[in-house]
Amino acid sequence: MKYHVVTLGCAKNIADSEGIGTLLRAAGYEPGTPDEADVLIVNTCGFLQAARQESIETLNALGERKKPGQLLVAAGCLSERYGAALADEVPALDGIIGTQQWTRIADFIQQLREREEEARWRAYAMPPDARNHVADSVSRRAEGHSAYLKIADGCSAPCAFCTIPSFKGPQRSKRPGTVIREAQELVAQGVQEIVLVAQDLTAYGRDWGETDGLPTLLEHLMQEVEGDVWFRLMYAYPGHATERLIEVMARHERICNYLDMPLQHGDPNVLKRMRRPHKLERIYRFFEQMRDAMPDVSLRTTFIVGYPGETEEEFQNLLDFMSAVQFDKVGVFTFSPEPGTPAAELPDQIPEEVKQERWERAMAHQQPIALARQEAQLGRTLEVVVDGYDAENGLTLARSYREAPEVDGYVLVRGQYDPGERLTVRITGAMPYDLEGRVVKRKPRRTPPPHPAAISLDAIGVRES
Ligand code: SF4
Repeated sequence: MKYHVVTLGCAKNIADSEGIGTLLRAAGYEPGTPDEADVLIVNTCGFLQAARQESIETLNALGERKKPGQLLVAAGCLSERYGAALADEVPALDGIIGTQQWTRIADFIQQLREREEEARWRAYAMPPDARNHVADSVSRRAEGHSAYLKIADGCSAPCAFCTIPSFKGPQRSKRPGTVIREAQELVAQGVQEIVLVAQDLTAYGRDWGETDGLPTLLEHLMQEVEGDVWFRLMYAYPGHATERLIEVMARHERICNYLDMPLQHGDPNVLKRMRRPHKLERIYRFFEQMRDAMPDVSLRTTFIVGYPGETEEEFQNLLDFMSAVQFDKVGVFTFSPEPGTPAAELPDQIPEEVKQERWERAMAHQQPIALARQEAQLGRTLEVVVDGYDAENGLTLARSYREAPEVDGYVLVRGQYDPGERLTVRITGAMPYDLEGRVVKRKPRRTPPPHPAAISLDAIGVRES
């Protein structure tokens, strides 16, 4: 029996898809192509309207080519959010399983197989009370040399534009022992980079009353996980970031001097309307302390433009904020009014053409800042890990501590090197998103990577296994 998983959306979904693959392999399935698979699974994204559309289109595209006997299953956020109603949009769907149920995927597929012929006219949605019961005990099998490790799920933050807490529920952190065991398993499989993710990374442990749990978890990981593996932090919420986090990051070489902290805006009044931390002095101070402790730190953030009521002056304040902080990497999104969120009901919604125009201005504003930050790397010697090879241009695509997988650019190296290989390169060229480097040294490999990684440059945010 074979399965095929298509993953849409964010890094948290990629981690869940790896868990789904691990459970299915344990149940006797093997990965296969869409044509040979007995079960097609789409791990959907339900965050924004555009992501929902992409998920439904992907499901329908697979549904149209579905062969007799094949099952089509929707997993992930869209399933969690809409449940059985998803079948109205995807007629070929056989099963719907949510984010809080995926650890039962093998039983669920068995149930779909055993359904009476006459019951198969409509997709079966796993009942909402069948929640994940073994989420903390699923062993991990990595799909490449870089792996996401989800340390918590759900979110307890009050952001006015976000639907995630409504369908993922409040934050639930994994116990430190579980995170450590997962990390050890990944390292034993030859993983070179572990990316710690959660909806709100810095809230780790708050659900059991620990106010600064992330630095403590990092200390445990540093003590108990051996091997020359990189640890990278993504999705840090500004309200819960502390000086101790900076101190722990700076002290341990294996924790990348890189932080992804989505800030969403740079004007205090817009941030207040977003119900987000809005004390900009605190945010400035935090970045200042980070750069004092780690002068080479690479900072990434995301912003939303065109939030309801955003005036030209507030937008200009965002641009000024970008200039003042000088982020290395910035992602900009236009506001999308999500049904059921307070932000969708706010007055003074911004016309689409204004949102688009502000998006273009914000992107253009960041361009010279990003280039200057990249040019500051010229002449540096950096260690990189190889992601893949661009045969057309004869270039190896690698990343240093400054580039996170999927969202940032590459260090481009002439020639072909193996995925998962570590190289030392001297930086010889800089562009706003990518760097160029020349190999100074190759590092002997301890363990081969789990699977030779094949990467698709146009598949940002989408990974198939
Ligand atoms: S921190 Fe805010 S934006 Fe992020 S998942 Fe939680 S509620 Fe949504």
